[in-house]
Amino acid sequence: MANFLFSNTDTVKLAEKYGTPLYVVSEDIIVERCNEIKRDFTERHKNTMAVYASKAFLTKEMARIIKREGLGMDVVSGGELYTAIKVDFPMEKIVFHGNNKTLNEIEMAVKHNVGRIVVDNFYELDLLGKVAKKYKKKANILFRITPGVDSHTHKYIRTGQIDSKFGIPLNENIIHKAILKAMELEYVELKGFHFHIGSQLQENETHVKAIKIIASLMNEVKNDIGFITKELNTGGGYGIHYNGNEHRKPLRYFTDAIMEELEKECEKYNLERPKVIIEPGRWIVGEAGITLYTIGSIKNIPGIRTYVGIDGGMPDNPRPSLYNAKYEALVANKMDEEPKNIVTVAGKCCESGDILIWDLKVPYIESGDILAVLSTGAYNYSMASNYNRIPRPAVVMVSNGKDRLIVKRETYDDIIKNEI
Ligand SMILES: *Cc1c(COP(=O)(O)O)cnc(C)c1O
Repeated sequence: MANFLFSNTDTVKLAEKYGTPLYVVSEDIIVERCNEIKRDFTERHKNTMAVYASKAFLTKEMARIIKREGLGMDVVSGGELYTAIKVDFPMEKIVFHGNNKTLNEIEMAVKHNVGRIVVDNFYELDLLGKVAKKYKKKANILFRITPGVDSHTHKYIRTGQIDSKFGIPLNENIIHKAILKAMELEYVELKGFHFHIGSQLQENETHVKAIKIIASLMNEVKNDIGFITKELNTGGGYGIHYNGNEHRKPLRYFTDAIMEELEKECEKYNLERPKVIIEPGRWIVGEAGITLYTIGSIKNIPGIRTYVGIDGGMPDNPRPSLYNAKYEALVANKMDEEPKNIVTVAGKCCESGDILIWDLKVPYIESGDILAVLSTGAYNYSMASNYNRIPRPAVVMVSNGKDRLIVKRETYDDIIKNEI
């Protein structure tokens, strides 16, 4: 018998100790990614910064790890900001995004002096101007720009095209108006621009195209209205391995291309290269997580399909039903047995669409086996719900053979605790 080891930890023992479904997150892998970012980006290029896009996976412990590793963090809601505040995350390293920040969220960001607020639209600029004035606090901002490039990824995670709910469209009149308006606001300082063009990108060409477009914008606003771009936040989106021939590329595949293109364009327009910020989320944490399930019912429809039921599904991993995302998985307690049967892994919700994996190759499978689904570190725990009143799983952090609970499993009482 051979069990699946993850970060030198026996996953079958973890399932016994903590129960299933269980999120397991490897601190070793997260630290490895942070080290690659420091070595190959922030230390390699001066005047740069890396922030972790916390919406991929955020708990207090994750925020502590990012803080310890010296990265900044991007947040998109009051709840994410609150989590950062609770672990004394350095507020000057927080970048606050969102296409419809509420008044409460803007006040929270201003009061806590978050490093950068990425302003998405005129409504927000207006609100922020008033709030910053009320508290007499300087708000440093970037404008989110929609560069009008189309990335080759699923429609719902594409964000850079013109027809998008995010950002200020790349239209000379609109952008000039926004910049002039920001320059008038006493307590607001516009530092530059931000774009984020999509997620799970396998190629760097979309980033390169966006850089070309933004550099041209930087040149134009300098010439037309004398605005000097001091910062450029280039978003995240670097892809990872989930399935088949998708691969996580080394960070430099993306960041070298971004820096080379930007330096070339700045030289062409005779601009000083702005400070460059990157915001990977999935690339840092996606492959650092797995989910363990116990197999229960097995339904064989002769000549058609075998459905294997697990004790979780779309509440803990909505991505297959949301984006048709594909995952790899293995039977954690049968690592020495040859995969020879094709099964379909079904979640336990009352939805025909709650299928985690179609056509997975597995060894002879029995009820009670432990299934490990790989690359679930990003956008799983953070997107989890209580659909069908299923409690959210616990989260265990593993590091070099040691495990520690970082989020307790929800109870039924947790589910009804706010109900009157
Ligand atoms: C989601 C998001 C990111 C991170 O995306 P990944 O694909 O996880 O790297 C970065 N910046 C912004 C503004 C985002 O919305």
